[in-house]
Amino acid sequence: MPDRKRIVVKCGTQLLTTPAGLNEGYIEQIAAQISSLIRDGAEVVLVSSGAVAAGRARLHLRGNQLTTRQVLAAVGQAPLIARYGTVFAAHDITVAQTLMSRADLTTRDGFLNARNALTGLLDQGVLPIANENDVVATEELRFGDNDPLSALIAQLVDADLLILLTGTDGLYTGDPRRHPDAELIRDGHVMTDEVLASAAGAAGAGGSGGVRSKVEAARSASFDGIEVVVAGGNLPDVLPRIAAGERLGTRFAPRQVTRTSRARWLSSAATERGTLRVDGGAKQALTDAGRSLLPAGICAVDGDFIRGDVVAVAGPDERVFARGLVNYASHDLVRILGRPSHLIASILDYEHGAEAVHRNNLVLLDSA
Ligand code: GLU
Repeated sequence: MPDRKRIVVKCGTQLLTTPAGLNEGYIEQIAAQISSLIRDGAEVVLVSSGAVAAGRARLHLRGNQLTTRQVLAAVGQAPLIARYGTVFAAHDITVAQTLMSRADLTTRDGFLNARNALTGLLDQGVLPIANENDVVATEELRFGDNDPLSALIAQLVDADLLILLTGTDGLYTGDPRRHPDAELIRDGHVMTDEVLASAAGAAGAGGSGGVRSKVEAARSASFDGIEVVVAGGNLPDVLPRIAAGERLGTRFAPRQVTRTSRARWLSSAATERGTLRVDGGAKQALTDAGRSLLPAGICAVDGDFIRGDVVAVAGPDERVFARGLVNYASHDLVRILGRPSHLIASILDYEHGAEAVHRNNLVLLDSA
């Protein structure tokens, strides 16, 4: 393996459990592979699902309602982490349970707080095993599947490599179980929004989270300079082979990092409280000219937010292309939208600057 690397490995329910509960053999196998990465000098964070499925094997509760999932996850997370504790102890590795909810990471402080915990554990040579904290996740504020969580964790710890293990060998042009002529996609960046839209329905190809969620997570991490590989969790020695540079599965080459940590947080972790719809001219000023968003370019304001909240910015086609910290509360913004900035003070009796969203507090999303 090249120098010391930080690697985030995401392993989904499909691989980790059987209808009878935890897949003990698989857990041992993946633990042996992760241990070999660590012995070779890597720092690893494992993002593991399986709590809900493990709970279901004990309680035999049906359904997928929020409360049911909360109950199942609370029951299942304990044996899941206990199993990891035992199998990693055989490799002399101490594990830590790190449960996170989307709500914890939406504020900048929360994001940095989680980063401190994870890097503190890595500094101690401990293997953090993360999962969504399904017990307190709400319908509105949850990751759902662990693909976005694993991308976020890779961003949190400044990982070099994110490996998303799936039940197939990577991402395919269709569902390989139903379409034998479906081909493995080698370069993940060919999965543009257009390709994804036409492949909708082929959701099975990537396992529980589906293709879209994997591609979005992978793209977001790769735009932060992280190499991302979606590969078959059942391939022998898949993790050490990828870490050694073997080309397996679907790879998203890392893009050059230009974003600051604050911009990364805005683009991936922050949750928006509202949306500003802007006209074509304003969209162009933001995407092509690197300008701030002025009230004059805003056509409509959705949501109830205060100054300093995170808002999405959508173009005339309603597609969200940017996100930023807003300078005016929604009830004031509706009064100044479409108006030139020199009139703000006379309309509102105060002003917080000429911009609705200042350039320094704005980040263009990957799709822009
Ligand atoms: N966080 C849930 C669990 O541990 C499910 C996540 C998933 O399937 O990706 O069971």
